Amino acid sequence: MSTQLTPALPDEIFKIIFEKSPGSLLVKADTPYFTILAASDAYLAITNATRELIIGKSFFQVFPDDDNDPRDETGIRKIFNKVVQTGQKLDIPSYRYDTRDPETGNYKVRYWSCSNVPFNCNDGKVNYILNTIVEITGEVNAKQAAIESENRFRMAAEATGFATFDWDFTDQIRLCPPPLVQLFGHPAHTFLPSGDAFRNQILPEDQQVVLDAFKVSLTTGIYAYDVRVAWPDGSIHWLSIKGKLVVDIGQKPVRILGTVIDITESKRDEIRKNDFIAMASHELKTPLTSIKSHIQILSKKLAPGNDAFVNNALAKANNQVNKMTDLIHGFLDLSKLESGKLQLKPELFDINRLIADCITELTQSPLSHMVAFDGGTILNVTADREKISQVINNFLSNAVKYSTKGSNIIVKSVLADGNVEVAITDEGVGIKPKDHKKIFQRFYRVDNDKIRNVSGFGIGLYLSSEIIQCHNGKIWVESDETVGSTFYFSLPTS
Ligand code: ADP
Repeated sequence: MSTQLTPALPDEIFKIIFEKSPGSLLVKADTPYFTILAASDAYLAITNATRELIIGKSFFQVFPDDDNDPRDETGIRKIFNKVVQTGQKLDIPSYRYDTRDPETGNYKVRYWSCSNVPFNCNDGKVNYILNTIVEITGEVNAKQAAIESENRFRMAAEATGFATFDWDFTDQIRLCPPPLVQLFGHPAHTFLPSGDAFRNQILPEDQQVVLDAFKVSLTTGIYAYDVRVAWPDGSIHWLSIKGKLVVDIGQKPVRILGTVIDITESKRDEIRKNDFIAMASHELKTPLTSIKSHIQILSKKLAPGNDAFVNNALAKANNQVNKMTDLIHGFLDLSKLESGKLQLKPELFDINRLIADCITELTQSPLSHMVAFDGGTILNVTADREKISQVINNFLSNAVKYSTKGSNIIVKSVLADGNVEVAITDEGVGIKPKDHKKIFQRFYRVDNDKIRNVSGFGIGLYLSSEIIQCHNGKIWVESDETVGSTFYFSLPTS
């Protein structure tokens, strides 16, 4: 491309326009000097030069180049020569040219983008080059910082065994980094073309877990699940996937960014631990049942003798055996739940009757609390009666365990919007809001000096929560440390 330099504007006007233009320099095409003829104010400002110092001098006297480097295709001298030879405009999108600070004398790293437009007069030869520059140091530094930060993140992730993924909903896995495909059992540089290629390796029985996790992510923004994948060599591996949903400006979900880690070893440990708990609990059940029946026989035999000390000792022994039995049942349920063997046996029953029965059972052993329940009406639900009684017993025994002797426990049940809602209120130590969700997690116990000596394993509420969720119900707590706690669950009536 070439442009005719026509003197249509008076020289003075042209000079003013040129001097006010952004970053422009006019050089003569007098190879090899490239004498500087004019420079705009902006050009002088960004290169720390003055008109007196540069006009009439060779471009390379003012801005020395490194023309000895044959690899440097973007060197300005080469570009100027090419423009003269070809008569074509040539751009350099990005190059480094450090400038000296006139005050300190130190060189400063700077990046530029430039365009070089040839001008020819009537003889058809290139006579001038208009060299226009824009400083892009800020953009280049920002880009480098972003690349470095991404590399640092990826290296840290890879060093800890994590693989990162970026799944966009047009079903393109944008990044297919080596560790990710390796976690699916492929050689490091295998390219898996789509999300389906990964998903097809997930065991059919775990596919629903992925769908459920995706549904949850659409409301919470968090994408998290553990699944089993079948490697091409036939072995099965557990993977834990954690990610964050990204939405566009219109709040439409567009992709998920996240990490994957192999948790096969820890899952195996967990399975071994669950098997051990299940086996040990099962083995303990038989001798405990036998001890309990012996205590009952002894109580009956000794009752007429009315030996207060012996009767008291037997009642205490019976109480402890009951506690152990509950604990063992809890462990057995836990292992059933983890192995997916917890099954519900739904039946229609009056929940008020069940609550009354649970309270009666609780008050059979000497009770130091006042329990109030007004359950005069019939409130029918279809649910697993035994499992729901387990939840009520857990709420009641916690209300006793975590409050002082002589305090009140109030039990209420209501029918609201087709759901039965049960609430058990105590005047105990209460629970800080930050722990409200956590207490429903497996083995979680609140760290509180007041209840340090209260025994427990932190599985009762976890089991209760799982049981209620299996019934499509809800479980929650309202509490603070000044008034005590109210534990709720609600169940659909049918
Ligand atoms: P456990 O009582 O055996 O520790 P749970 O799962 O039943 O197990 O309860 C979990 C934790 O929740 C308890 O350790 C306790 O810190 C807290 N908690 C449960 N119920 C109450 C309550 N009524 N008042 C205060 N804290 C409670």
